[in-house]
Amino acid sequence: MLTLLSFSACAQGTSKSKTTKNTPMENKQNPYYQPNQKDTVVVTDAIWKQVLSPEVYYVAREKGTERPFTSPFEESKEVGTYHCAACGNALFKSNAKFSSGCGWPSFFEPITKAALIYTPDHSHGMSRTEVQCGKCKAHLGHVFEDGPPPTGLRYCINGVVLTIEKDK
Ligand SMILES: [Zn+2]
Repeated sequence: MLTLLSFSACAQGTSKSKTTKNTPMENKQNPYYQPNQKDTVVVTDAIWKQVLSPEVYYVAREKGTERPFTSPFEESKEVGTYHCAACGNALFKSNAKFSSGCGWPSFFEPITKAALIYTPDHSHGMSRTEVQCGKCKAHLGHVFEDGPPPTGLRYCINGVVLTIEKDK
């Protein structure tokens, strides 16, 4: 019997793990973390809750915000590609990262425009633009128009919803 591995939607059915993650905090098996799989990921919050750590779930699915200056990625100079911690979607190259001093990892452009979803956000009495993962709709952070050249944009991203795949 031939089953398409990539379409396995079963949270506990995948025994085969091919991931080489650099995420020591990751202590749960997340079958939806598939950097090479480009299809949109639609998963219920109940299932996300089973496969994401509480910290990732809080930001990604409940639009929470990590405390500023707590992410090791904020000052990190690692060279590679930042991916969505929920689904593995490539989001930002490390060469688009800059030190904003705002307390969260900051980038001036995404890896591709389609990597992100942009949504007006009027919560908390502010007018902002929310950015979500273009593949799984995880909440990532916000984009502001006070960034450096060449884009003038500042993607202010919660580090907890990022993983880095270091360049070889
Ligand atoms: Zn994602």
